[in-house]
Amino acid sequence: MKADRLWGEIQNNALDKGIDLVGVADLEAARPYLDKQGQEVVASFPRAISLGLGLTHGLIDRLGSRDPAVLASYFNLYTTVNQTLDRVALLVAKKLESEGYKTFPVPASQSLLPDKLHGLISHKLVAHLAGLGWIGKSCLLVTRRFGPRVRFATILTNAPLPANSALAESECGKCRACVDICPAAAFTGRPFKPEEDREMRFDARACKEYTDSYQRELGYQFPSSSTVCGLCVYICPKGRRKE
Ligand code: SF4
Ligand code: SF4
Repeated sequence: MKADRLWGEIQNNALDKGIDLVGVADLEAARPYLDKQGQEVVASFPRAISLGLGLTHGLIDRLGSRDPAVLASYFNLYTTVNQTLDRVALLVAKKLESEGYKTFPVPASQSLLPDKLHGLISHKLVAHLAGLGWIGKSCLLVTRRFGPRVRFATILTNAPLPANSALAESECGKCRACVDICPAAAFTGRPFKPEEDREMRFDARACKEYTDSYQRELGYQFPSSSTVCGLCVYICPKGRRKE
């Protein structure tokens, strides 16, 4: 099957399964940055499909309440959204493999090693390269439709799918709401530059340490070590429900 037609089918099937955003990233263009993460498996794939699924506003709008019941529900929402993404990523990978291509579905929530607070490949960078949004001052992928209230999964592939173009500019403008609200002061507020390490903009360890102390203060253990306070997701004006 021709690549254009195959991509059309994959897109329609993913949207039918409830996925909100789909795009193709050209990984060759980002090779110097991806190589910094040093993952051999990523280096062997020229393309990546990004799948995005929006979160529900009713819950994210309440994250500012600091209510443990809301935080537990937030974790549950993440788990459900991640599982949905992973299920559709599996179907996409199987479709590509049935056409003779290689694939590697990267789980929606994944961390490689305890001392490396990131996974096999940055889903946010892939989504950015696939034209789905920009990387905000919060280091989250911010989309026009959902702001940062969205999760992503990635399927690495060697299928010659037509790649999208990355958005040229951040649309954060003068906003610094995420920088100002972060209780861990984890963001420097520097705009995203692909050639700079994430550490120039975000202190992942500060976020994790704040999360640990916050749990002690609340007397409540988050259901997973990947749960964080989420204030940077909550506050972003780009994610607020459009009336
Ligand atoms: S999750 Fe909370 S502590 Fe972590 S970066 Fe976002 S606002 Fe800061
Ligand atoms: S809160 Fe403002 S600065 Fe932060 S990501 Fe959203 S738009 Fe950008």
